[in-house]
Amino acid sequence: MSDDKDRDQYGVLLYYKYANIPNLEDLLSFYQSNCSQLSLLGRVRLSSRGVNVTVGGKLSSLESHIEALKAKDPVFETTDFKLATCHEPLNDRVAKECGFTSLSIRIVEELVTLSSHPLLKSPEISNAGRHLSASEFHSSLQNADQKTPRDDLLLLDARNLYETRIGKFHAPNIETLDPQVRQYSDLSSWIDDNSEKLKGKHVLMYCTGGIRCEMASAYIKSKGAGFENVFQLFGGIQRYLEQFPDGGFFKGKNFVFDHRISVGSSDTDVLGTCLICHCSFDDYSSRCRCTHCRMLVLVCHNCQNEAASYVCELCQKQGKAISSMQLIDNGELKTPLEGAELQNSSSNATVSPQMPKGDDVRPSKKLRILCLHGFRQNASSFKGRTSSLAKKLKKIAEFVFVDAPHELSFIYQTTSAEDVACESSPLPSSPPPPSENCRKKYAWLVAPNFDGSSDINWKVAEGPFDPLQYQQQTDGYGSGDGSFNLCATRTTKR
Ligand SMILES: [Zn+2]
Ligand SMILES: [Zn+2]
Repeated sequence: MSDDKDRDQYGVLLYYKYANIPNLEDLLSFYQSNCSQLSLLGRVRLSSRGVNVTVGGKLSSLESHIEALKAKDPVFETTDFKLATCHEPLNDRVAKECGFTSLSIRIVEELVTLSSHPLLKSPEISNAGRHLSASEFHSSLQNADQKTPRDDLLLLDARNLYETRIGKFHAPNIETLDPQVRQYSDLSSWIDDNSEKLKGKHVLMYCTGGIRCEMASAYIKSKGAGFENVFQLFGGIQRYLEQFPDGGFFKGKNFVFDHRISVGSSDTDVLGTCLICHCSFDDYSSRCRCTHCRMLVLVCHNCQNEAASYVCELCQKQGKAISSMQLIDNGELKTPLEGAELQNSSSNATVSPQMPKGDDVRPSKKLRILCLHGFRQNASSFKGRTSSLAKKLKKIAEFVFVDAPHELSFIYQTTSAEDVACESSPLPSSPPPPSENCRKKYAWLVAPNFDGSSDINWKVAEGPFDPLQYQQQTDGYGSGDGSFNLCATRTTKR
């Protein structure tokens, strides 16, 4: 579909590379100077585990960039650089949404975010599914095609719903699993929920350019026995369509995250349908989005004139309607995620098929609420106390709990005190009671002279104190006027 008549001097370059990057700052300054010298626009993400790049510019500049990078570090010799000619961004809005109106170079923790859950560690990329070249992938599907139904073989689309709407692999006799997620960070939960379907199967995964499969296939394999046979299409749909210009087993169009929007084969069927009238339609250039979750939706030109707000199929399933956008309805908060559009055009938005993080928008991304427990509490107890609220809000918000950094010892007094108590159990004056029944307690702030020795479970009080106020542990910042004093200057005892 790329129009390479007059404007063939323009191109888009996509690549990612997982590799140990020992000197990140050095690589950062390389990208900064190289990309600005060559007037490249787009996104560069660097982490200690690799790089993920989507840039556009003059074709010759993009070629120079590749050469300079290979010369800079031989680790990039084997990188799969996907360079395509195309027209320059014609539509400002699309170019802006795709991040092609500026250059954003950033160091990030992870190249793609498999899960928004802070405690889910990214799987080891070295354990990713086996790479299949486009032709190997094709033959796997072809071989299966010739036999009777292969129920040990599965196709798994690792992309988001709005991408699969307009194109996906389809091979007779092989089931294609379409997780219908709004964003990549929802995929790991889908995998968790559907692991029985994947267990014991040969799973053939694919995504746009390959990077999402690297992480997701490693995640599937990390589930252990029964999940060994995971394969991924190396280079993604992009490389496959180059190899099979007539589309092969890929039907429809390949959604891309640059201003091209989608790329079709020479024999493109229209798979998408208008959300409203269900006519055949697969053009995202008007960037219509769901009112609730901001995910891209397909709305044909006629219907765009009729309606101004839309509800995507996922939100419809969740019972959302255009008119019910205000607060509590059936106990659930139903608010449109305002700001998603803004976020989308910010440098935070993802440009590339290689960069599922954030995609072209962060549709329906659950609000993550950091819940900080109180003094002498801990994450677990706070989580317990807020569980019913968390349940009520689970569709729109996720509560994140962490323990405070300072572990507090239990203080007791050897001198007799009438009202000494630990939680509900009476605290004997001597010796200290066993600690098994008392969970660890934490504080966010401690006095400057706090000794912090967490190995001491029980500690003798320095002076008489009211155990309910834990004088010693609040000393130094809690003051009589109720204000906090975080500086080390105040040591006055109350
Ligand atoms: Zn329509
Ligand atoms: Zn929606």
